[in-house]
Amino acid sequence: MKKTVLFAAIVMLLSAYAQAQPVYRFTVKVGIDKESVQFIGGADAVRAKITDMFTKVNKAFNYTRQFDAVYDFVVDWDAFYIYEGLSTEEVHKPHPDHDYLVVIDGLKSDPKEVGGGWYGADIQTIYHARTHTDHFNDPFEKNAIDGIIHEFGHARGMPDIYAMQVNADRNPIAPVACYGERCIMNYPYGETLWSDYAVNMINLSKDKRIEIDELVAAMCPEKIRITVLDPADAPVKDAKVTLYPVPWYSYSVSETPLTEKVTDKKGLCELPGDVYGKTEEFGLGCPNIFVKAEHDGLTAYGWLPLYEVQNAAFDGKEAYEMTLRLKALTPSKPFEFKINR
Ligand SMILES: [Zn+2]
Repeated sequence: MKKTVLFAAIVMLLSAYAQAQPVYRFTVKVGIDKESVQFIGGADAVRAKITDMFTKVNKAFNYTRQFDAVYDFVVDWDAFYIYEGLSTEEVHKPHPDHDYLVVIDGLKSDPKEVGGGWYGADIQTIYHARTHTDHFNDPFEKNAIDGIIHEFGHARGMPDIYAMQVNADRNPIAPVACYGERCIMNYPYGETLWSDYAVNMINLSKDKRIEIDELVAAMCPEKIRITVLDPADAPVKDAKVTLYPVPWYSYSVSETPLTEKVTDKKGLCELPGDVYGKTEEFGLGCPNIFVKAEHDGLTAYGWLPLYEVQNAAFDGKEAYEMTLRLKALTPSKPFEFKINR
């Protein structure tokens, strides 16, 4: 085959691939405060920066080709506006003609300003600003753009993965940390990857208006099955399994157990998939659980973060399966240790 023919065939294949995917288009109204416009050097410069920012947002959703659709967040320039006064008030203004409102403030000079980020429920607004400061924080610099990409991840149904993290020194049961997984929704800066959980949640949301808490509460698998094995991989009967909750955004394990179970002769104990409980604020009571299994002086630990457990439901499985292998907590004596071979 001639090179040009092969090239034409590749182009046709690629365009067929692109056509197979639906395009989800979302309209965006953008407002920016007057002081920020002055810092950036006028309205035309701001428009160019916003255009560049949305090129990068769309690229972040599309160029890894992880989603079932092509995402297109479109700025409505007829609705673009520059305002004076409190950004906090702009954030809560209704925008019935657009899917999203983005309020940009690089200065936040008034102490009455509130925190930036995603405002969901009936607000559907991204407040693109840092915490209160008296100097100009460029809302269009690289990290700020990585930040707004993360906020659009919320707009499409994804919770914060970092809300499920635990610092080792804030775990009173054992000094074990949980770092979350690689994802724009965990640590967005310099990151281009959406985790499998983010891909699943964002695909689930399709092109609809959604509420993150409701999606998350609905995606628990039927059951969670925990199997406890001894160091020789044999099932352990009567092992005690204790579940400790990790409250949202707390980076810590709570000392009060959610529940306790004992394994059967197969080494198994079964829990309902919604063992995380319920709260008003976040739907599910907690986004992660620290698991401790113990028997006869041997112990094992594990985590049940939503970003792993709920993927079982996305995979069509009835249960999320976890295996814990017991081991002695006391280290062996190095001079008495013999290699067995
Ligand atoms: Zn977030």
